[in-house]
Amino acid sequence: MVRSIPGVLTVTEPTGPNVPVIFDSPHSGADYPDDFGSILPLSALRVTEDAFVDQLYAAAPENGAVLLAALFPRCFVDPNRSSVDLDPSSLDGPWPEPLVPSEKTLHLGSGLIWCTCYPDIPMYDRKFTVAEVRRRIDTFYKPYHAAVVGAIEAAHQQFSQAWHVNCHSMPSFSTAKSPEGPGNERPEFVLGDRDGTTADPEFTALVRETLAGFGYEVTVNDPYKGAELVRAYSNPSAGRHSLQIEIKRALYMNETTIQPNAGFEALRANITRLVEVICAYAASKT
Ligand SMILES: [Zn+2]
Repeated sequence: MVRSIPGVLTVTEPTGPNVPVIFDSPHSGADYPDDFGSILPLSALRVTEDAFVDQLYAAAPENGAVLLAALFPRCFVDPNRSSVDLDPSSLDGPWPEPLVPSEKTLHLGSGLIWCTCYPDIPMYDRKFTVAEVRRRIDTFYKPYHAAVVGAIEAAHQQFSQAWHVNCHSMPSFSTAKSPEGPGNERPEFVLGDRDGTTADPEFTALVRETLAGFGYEVTVNDPYKGAELVRAYSNPSAGRHSLQIEIKRALYMNETTIQPNAGFEALRANITRLVEVICAYAASKT
C-alpha cells in the first residue's frame, strides 16, 4: 500500500512479511512548489536532486521493508539538515527561536534552505520572509521527519530493533560547494555512520562487504559521514541503527540532462540484491 501527502512524501508499506527495515530517500523529490521564488531556471535547480534514488530501492517493500521518499526538492528545504540550521541574516525579520547555522549554511549555502546551486550560483535575489521559511518547515520538513521516525518507532515497537537506511546519491566530482573545493572524483559508494556512532559496526561492515563483493569501490565516512537523518533517530545501544549510503551518480545517470544512463538497470539489480541482504540480516536478528 502506498500512502502519500501530495507534494510532500510517499510511504510504501511492505508487501512481503515485515522486517524492521526502513529505507528513506530524502533528496529524490522533483515536485517544485509554485511559491519557490528562485531566480534560477528549473534545469539549474534540478542538478541538486539525488534523482531516481527512490527507484533504485524500489524492491524494498517486496522484501518486507518500508520505503519513504520525499516529493519536494531538497534545495527548497533540506530534510537532511537541522531545523535550526538557518542564517538569521538571510531572513527579513526575527526568528522566534535560537538559530544554529552550520558551516554549510554560512560558507557553502546548503543548510536547511539552500541559497546557492552547483557549482556556486545564487538561487535568490532577495531575503526570505519568515512566513515562507516557516511554511517550508511546517508543511514539508516536519511531515517528512515525522514519517521517518514514525516508521522507525513502529518497527522498533514490534521487533525491539530497527535498521534505517538513508539513501542518497552524490555528484561524481566535488564542486565549488564541497568543503574541499572542486574537482575531486568520488568513490562509487560512500557509507556514513558518523564515525561508528549511528549504527552497529557489524551492520556497516555487512553493507560495505556486500557492495565490495559486487565489485564496487566503497569508502566509509570519507568524504561523507552522514548528516541529520542518520543522527536524529539512531541509538545503536538501544537497537536503533541508521546508515547513510551515497551512490556516485555517474553509475546510473547523466548528471547534466538528469536522465538515467545505460548503467541504471545494472545498478538497480545490484541495489535489489543489497536490499535482500539487509532485509535477511534484519530478519536473522529478530
Ligand atoms: Zn542526498
